[in-house]
Amino acid sequence: IKKIGVLTSGGDAPGMNAAVRAVVRTALSKGVDVYGVWDGYLGLHQNRIEQLARHDVSDLINRGGTFLGSARFPEFKEESVRREAIENMRQHGMEALVVIGGDGSYMGAKRLTEMGFPCIGLPGTIDNDVAGTDFTIGFHTALNTVLDAIDRLRDTCSSHHRIAIVEIMGRYCGDLTIMASIGSGAEFTIVPEKGFDEESLIQTVADDVTAGKKHSIIAITEHVTDVSALAKRIEARTGLETRATILGHIQRGGVPCAFDRVLASQMGSYAVELLSQGVGGRCVGIQSNKLVHHDIVDAIENMPRPFKQDLYDLTSLLA
Ligand code: ATP
Repeated sequence: IKKIGVLTSGGDAPGMNAAVRAVVRTALSKGVDVYGVWDGYLGLHQNRIEQLARHDVSDLINRGGTFLGSARFPEFKEESVRREAIENMRQHGMEALVVIGGDGSYMGAKRLTEMGFPCIGLPGTIDNDVAGTDFTIGFHTALNTVLDAIDRLRDTCSSHHRIAIVEIMGRYCGDLTIMASIGSGAEFTIVPEKGFDEESLIQTVADDVTAGKKHSIIAITEHVTDVSALAKRIEARTGLETRATILGHIQRGGVPCAFDRVLASQMGSYAVELLSQGVGGRCVGIQSNKLVHHDIVDAIENMPRPFKQDLYDLTSLLA
C-alpha cells in the first residue's frame, strides 16, 4: 500500500488530533503517503483532500477538537454520493481510508468497504458507545470534564442546601454518567439502559430529605427526560431548591487527557500497521488493555456493547 487517507467524522472528540498525527507519522515511517480529508465525508465528497507532511501534524498532540474538521453529512447514505467520493480518492491514488468517529461514521466506513474501498475505523467519540472497544478516544477527557463540573456543583449544593440535577452526554449510552457518578459521589444515577421511573426517584429524594439529607446530586444521561421539568417537580415535593444543569458541549472540548492521547496514538499507529499488512474493513479497539481489531460490518451489526452492570451497582452502593 502506498497512499492512504484519513478523516475525522461525527462529533469532535479530544484526542482525534493525536490519532491523525499517529496515522501520519506511522505511515511516513513506512514510506506510505497520507492524504488528509477536510470536514469528514462532506470534504471527501467535495474532493477537499490534501497530502499531509510530517510537520502538518506538529503541535497538535495536546489540542482538543480536530484540526481536519468534522461535519454531519447525511447525504453520504446515498450510494451515488459515496461512489463520487471513492472516485475522488482514486484520483489521488489513495488505496485505503482511516475513519475516526462514532458509530455513524463507522456506517459510512462499512459502506465504502462494501463498495470495494477498504476502510479502518477508529472509535473517536466522547460517548463511549462504539462496539468492539472498551473505551473510545475522547471518553476519558470528557469524564474528567464532567467530574470537574460536578465537583463545582457539589460545592454550591452543599453550601446552599440544594439538589442538583446534572445532564450528561452519551446519547443512548450511560457510561459517561455512570463513571462520572462514581467519581463524583453523586447520589442518584439515571441512565438510558435502565429506564426511568420518575415517581420512584422523586419519592426516594423526598424520603432522603425527610431523613435529614440537605443536598443531593442526580446524574442523568441526556435524552432520558426533560431535566428542567424534573427539577421543578422535585422542588415541589421536597421543598428544597432544585436546579438542573445541562453540561452540553463543554464536555466535548478541551485538552485531551493523558489516557486519550496515548490511546489515540496507539490506535492511529495500529490502523496503519493493519493497512500495511493488507488488512482492511476492520475497526480498531482496546479490550482488556490490548489493541484488537474486528470486522467493521460484524462490529456494527452483531457486536453488543455489554452494559457495565458492576459499575452501575457501585453507584448506588456508594451513594
Ligand atoms: P458521534 O457519536 O460522536 O456523534 P458519529 O460518527 O456517530 O459521531 P453521525 O453524525 O451519526 O456521528 O455520523 C457521522 C457521519 O457519518 C454522518 O454525517 C454521515 O456522513 C456518515 N454516516 C452516518 N450513517 C451513515 C450510513 N448509514 N451510511 C453512510 N454514511 C453514514
